[in-house]
Amino acid sequence: MENTGILYVVGTPIGNLSDLSPRAAQVLESVDFIAAEDTRVTVKLLNHLGIKKPMISYFEHNKQFKGEVICKRILAGENCAVVTDAGMPCISDPGEELIKQCEGFGIKTEVVPGPSAVISALCVSGLSTGRFTFEGFLSVNKKSRREHLESLMGEKRTMIFYEAPHKLSNTLRDFYETFGDRKLTIARELTKLHEEIIRTTTKEALERYGDGSLKGEMVLVLEGDTAVKKDEYTLEEAVEIARNLINEGEKPTEAAKKAASVTGMKKNDIYRELI
Ligand code: SAM
Repeated sequence: MENTGILYVVGTPIGNLSDLSPRAAQVLESVDFIAAEDTRVTVKLLNHLGIKKPMISYFEHNKQFKGEVICKRILAGENCAVVTDAGMPCISDPGEELIKQCEGFGIKTEVVPGPSAVISALCVSGLSTGRFTFEGFLSVNKKSRREHLESLMGEKRTMIFYEAPHKLSNTLRDFYETFGDRKLTIARELTKLHEEIIRTTTKEALERYGDGSLKGEMVLVLEGDTAVKKDEYTLEEAVEIARNLINEGEKPTEAAKKAASVTGMKKNDIYRELI
C-alpha cells in the first residue's frame, strides 16, 4: 500500500470566503482531484482562489457508488480532497460514508478543519457551552420528529439544531409545546453581511417568528433543562404541576406527560387524577 494516496476532509467557509484557511487552499491546490457535493458551488470557490482542479461530484444519492470510485483512485496513488457546499463535510453533509469506506480500504484520512455552523452558533449563543448536543435537522416525518423531541425532554445540555427557514414556524411551535418557555438563540446568516444573533425564548420566538417571516440560513441553540428537580415528588405535587400547565393553556395529555418527565411519576397516574 506504499503508493496509496490520502483523503483530505477540508472545511470550507459558511458564508465569508475569507474564512478559508491557508492550509485548506494549499491542500485544494495540491491534491489530484476534489470530490465535491456540488461542483458548481465548489468551482466558484476554486475560481476565487485561482485554482483549477479536476472534480467529481459526491453527494447523498451517489455516495455509495462514487465512494468506491474515489477509494479506488486513492488506492492507485491519487490524493483527494472532499468538500461540501459550506462548512465541514460529514456534519449534516456528505462525507461520513466516505470516511468509513476509506477505513475499510486502509486509506489514510487527514482533516483540514474549517468553520462549521454548529460550533459557530454555539459560541455566540450566550448559552452554556460546557456541555452540548448536536441534533442536526429535525425529521419532516411527524412521528419521528415528535419522538426525537420527546427524547430530549429533560436534556440538561445545550441543544443545537440545523433548520431550514420554511420549517421554522413548525419547529418553534414544537419547541414551545415540548419544552415550555426557555432560552433560545437563533443564529442567522453567520459570517455573512446580514449576520444576526437573536437571543430570545421559545415563547417569544413563536410569537415573533411563528409566521415564517424569518429568512436565511439559521441554527437554533436551545437552552438545556434548568429546572431544579426534587429527589422525590408525591402524586399530588405532580398533579399540581400538570394543573398549572393546563392553566397556562396546555392540553391535559401533554400536561400529564410534562409533569411526569419533571417528577418521575407515571403519566397515566397523573392523567387519571386530572380528569
Ligand atoms: N456541514 C455544514 C457545517 O459544517 O456547518 C452544515 C451543512 S447543513 C446541510 C446546512 C445547515 O447548516 C443550514 O440549514 C443551517 O442550519 C446551517 N448553516 C450553514 N451555514 C450557515 C450560516 N452561514 N448561518 C447559519 N446557519 C448556517
